[in-house]
Amino acid sequence: MIDTHCHVHFTDYGENRADVIGRTQKKGVEMITIGTQTSTSLEAIQTAEQYEGVWCTVGLHPSHTHPYTLHADQNEVTDTHVELFDKDDYRKLVERSNKVVAIGEVGLDYYRLPTEAEDVADVKLKQKTELWKAIELATEVNLPLVLHVRDAHTDMVSIIEAAQTRGMMSRGAVIHCFTGTTEEARVYHRLGILTSFTGIITFGDKKHPEKLTPLMKTVQDLPLEMMMIETDAPYLAPEPHRGKQNEPWMVQYVAEKIAALKGITTEEVDRVTTKTAQHFFGL
Ligand SMILES: [Zn+2]
Ligand SMILES: [Zn+2]
Repeated sequence: MIDTHCHVHFTDYGENRADVIGRTQKKGVEMITIGTQTSTSLEAIQTAEQYEGVWCTVGLHPSHTHPYTLHADQNEVTDTHVELFDKDDYRKLVERSNKVVAIGEVGLDYYRLPTEAEDVADVKLKQKTELWKAIELATEVNLPLVLHVRDAHTDMVSIIEAAQTRGMMSRGAVIHCFTGTTEEARVYHRLGILTSFTGIITFGDKKHPEKLTPLMKTVQDLPLEMMMIETDAPYLAPEPHRGKQNEPWMVQYVAEKIAALKGITTEEVDRVTTKTAQHFFGL
């Protein structure tokens, strides 16, 4: 099994990092640890270089391109380090190690926006400009893209279509932590873009735990062949560990949930999603 999107190099793990990675390896789970700015991209490379079965990506999270928003995966105010996507800097990071298997996470995050309309326009323009640079680099170095998209599917689809029309993005892309609708997923799938699911698919309605959430129904609707699985650790720990610090081995709960929703075995989910991930990232 492969956790295709975690941040196991983040400082959140501190001295426990080796234990967390060890526990994950012991369960036969490989991982791709995701950079979110130049500093954490370098740390992702250093972590991947150090361990078997760990690969990495280099990228700039859209929320780091301007000072207005919060870290999208945390829902709490963090001291956002503002940075622009310097293609040369990121190219050097790619060239540093053959463990770099994608450009990302990059993307669009309109979840928290400033209150003034002109600031909103400025934030969106900045995110799109930086995303385009990342798409250019991914095309030039022939790597796939890991895309973070929150409340921005329409703009993201337009950008992907424009890039594909120009012959860019030849290695494809994945929409990580997909939480949109079945229809939104199908638009991506028609463009050959994969969708990846986190522990959010295990989060039921507290009052009606037997009821399927809209996201669970979306998982049921979509073809397994277009899916990958991830934790986004240290955030978003799946049930039964919800609320605790997430670890990459917990991706097994995401696979189990997909299996239960689709009425197939976890082995089948593992087999198909692992094959997709190996092919997509070229592992
Ligand atoms: Zn993300
Ligand atoms: Zn992430």
